[in-house]
Amino acid sequence: MGKKQDYFVGVDLGGTKLLAVVFDEAYAPLGRAKEKVGKSRDNEAVLEKMVEVIGDALDDAGVKRGEISAIGIACPGPVDFENGVVLETPNLGLENFPIRDRLSADLDVPVFLENDVNAGTYGEYVSGAGRGFRHIVGLFPGTGLGGGLILDGRLFRGATGGAGEIGHMIIQVDGRRCGCGQYGCLEAMASRTAIAKDLVALSTTGSAPAVYKKAGSDFAAIKSSVIDKAWRDGEPAVVDLVDRAARHLGIGMANCVNVFNPELIIIGGGLVEKLGAPYIEKAESAMREHAMGRLVSIVHVKQAELGDDSTVIGAAALAREHQS
Ligand SMILES: [Zn+2]
Repeated sequence: MGKKQDYFVGVDLGGTKLLAVVFDEAYAPLGRAKEKVGKSRDNEAVLEKMVEVIGDALDDAGVKRGEISAIGIACPGPVDFENGVVLETPNLGLENFPIRDRLSADLDVPVFLENDVNAGTYGEYVSGAGRGFRHIVGLFPGTGLGGGLILDGRLFRGATGGAGEIGHMIIQVDGRRCGCGQYGCLEAMASRTAIAKDLVALSTTGSAPAVYKKAGSDFAAIKSSVIDKAWRDGEPAVVDLVDRAARHLGIGMANCVNVFNPELIIIGGGLVEKLGAPYIEKAESAMREHAMGRLVSIVHVKQAELGDDSTVIGAAALAREHQS
C-alpha cells in the first residue's frame, strides 16, 4: 500500500531573523520564508510571527498545513529540549517560553525544540559534510564559538542538554576574558568577535592600514569580508593575528580529538565560509601537531556544506525522529 509523502518544517529562530523551510523526506527544500524579528519582542509576538512565517513557507512549497508531519524549531541559547521550553534568548528577549506546546497547539502538529548549534551540526550529519560518519565534532566560530557533538550516530546532549560548549573550553589559563565570565576560553581566542576586537586595536594604532581604510576602528564594521580581504592581501599584522586564531582553533580541535575520538571535524559559519580552505588548513595543521597521534591519524576535517540551511535541516530531522 502506498504511503503518502511526509513533509517536515525546520524553523531557525535567529537573533535577527526567523527562517522557515519546508522539506520532503529526503530533506530537499520545497519552499521557504524569512522575516526580520526586531529586538525585545515578547513571547507572544514571536509565536505569532512564527505561525505566519511557517504559513508563508507552506504556501511557497504548495504544501497544506495538514500535510506536515512535524516541525523542528532551532533557537539560540539554552533550551530545555525535553519540555520544549526556551529558557532564554538574550537577543530576542524570550524567557521561559514553552514554545513547543504552544506552537503544537496552534498548528495541531508535533513540534520539537533544539539549540541552534546542535541542530546545525545534526543537519550537516544527516544531509551535509557529515554524511556517512558517525562520530563528529562541529565547530562554528562566529559571534561566539558554537560546538555540537554527534557521538555514535546520535546528537550528544549530556545530562541536562548542555553538552557541546566547546567554545568555553579553556585553552589559555588566565587568558583573555570571555563573555561567559571565565578567562582564556576558545571563544575568546578564536571567534570572529575575538579577531575583530584585536583588529580594532591594530587599526587604531595604525598597524593595519587596509582594515582602517575599510572599517576605521569601528568594531561593528569589521565583518568577515573585511577580515578576509586584509588577510588575503597579506597585511603582516593581520596575517599574524588571523593565523594565531586559526592555531587556537586547531588546539581546541586537538582537545576534542583527544576527548571524543571523532572521525570527522566539521568547521562552519560565516567567517570560515569567507576565509575558506587556507584558514581550515592552518587550523588542521595545528590540530595534527597537538593531538595524540593514534587518535588524530583517522580524523578528517571538512568545511560545513549547507550554510544557513544546516540549522533548519537539522531541526526538521530531529523533529522527524521525535515525532512518535
Ligand atoms: Zn567562555
